[in-house]
Amino acid sequence: MACEFSTWFSASTPDENALKMIESGAMSKQIDLHAHSTASDGTLTPAALMQRAHVAGVGVMALTDHDTLEGLSEAESKASQLGMGFVPGVEVSVTWEGATVDIVGLGADRDDQVLQSGLARLRDFRDWRAEEIGRRLEKQGIPGTFEAARALSNGRLISRTHFARVLVARDRAKDLRDVFKRFLVSGKPGFVPGQWAELSDAVGWIRAAGGEAVIAHPARYKVTRSKLRRLFGEFAELGGSAIEVVSGSHSRDDYFTMAHHARDFGLAASAGSDYHGPEHPWIELGRLPELPPGCRAIWQDWPLNS
Ligand code: AMP
Ligand code: MN
Ligand code: MN
Repeated sequence: MACEFSTWFSASTPDENALKMIESGAMSKQIDLHAHSTASDGTLTPAALMQRAHVAGVGVMALTDHDTLEGLSEAESKASQLGMGFVPGVEVSVTWEGATVDIVGLGADRDDQVLQSGLARLRDFRDWRAEEIGRRLEKQGIPGTFEAARALSNGRLISRTHFARVLVARDRAKDLRDVFKRFLVSGKPGFVPGQWAELSDAVGWIRAAGGEAVIAHPARYKVTRSKLRRLFGEFAELGGSAIEVVSGSHSRDDYFTMAHHARDFGLAASAGSDYHGPEHPWIELGRLPELPPGCRAIWQDWPLNS
């Protein structure tokens, strides 16, 4: 079964409670372990992302671009200039039991050759997939989308988000969500099934490079509860560290459900906005609520300087 995100928009309006907590000063030290830059499908450069996070009151920020480590050096220099904590990251695309699952790697050595070559293979698939999406959309009477998406990506990797922006700009859909729903998800004309990394490979690369693996936005996968729990079990067996309990695209109910799963599987909890830029106004930096009670934070034993 192909997997898409189920609650991308509905659940991702800014959390009022979190806003109140920020205003009251109860959330001084924000930790955000999931965000994108122009190195993949974000719209801010790595440096601009760090700057915005700093202004928004984030004390520790990760950069986790899709399948690339390219933005990390720039982000790290900027964060250190701002006196902000920085966690180098990556969001690895995985195909697991026919579903696409995203695995965030945190703190991996960016010079690790195995990790680098694994990600390079995924980018090769992305290149092929982008051309294939273009061909499929062309058959639907929408020519030239591959070229336009490539231009938007500035020679970096191409994600479905780039296609979505092209189609919105051409008035083929009213917003990004609409494009995904009508063109880019399973069963729709521009969808190409993923042939991403194996779960064991993704977790293995991250761990061998000294990093920790985290299941990104688990509530967004359209899978049954029992399949999701099978994923958590396998992931824990493989040495995965945590699941994103708090995500910019999780609802308040999701926080508690995922906290429960994390405890059941002995996994730690992570938190990340999955920010993609100010053009995606449903998620803003600096607004993550605290982890629900009883969670073991993935950063608990990290030497954080924020
Ligand atoms: P890709 O890794 O190229 O398949 O694309 C994944 C990206 O698509 C993610 O970063 C999401 O930001 C975006 N995405 C996936 N589903 C949706 C959706 N329904 N609405 C908006 N963006 C989405
Ligand atoms: Mn993701
Ligand atoms: Mn992401």
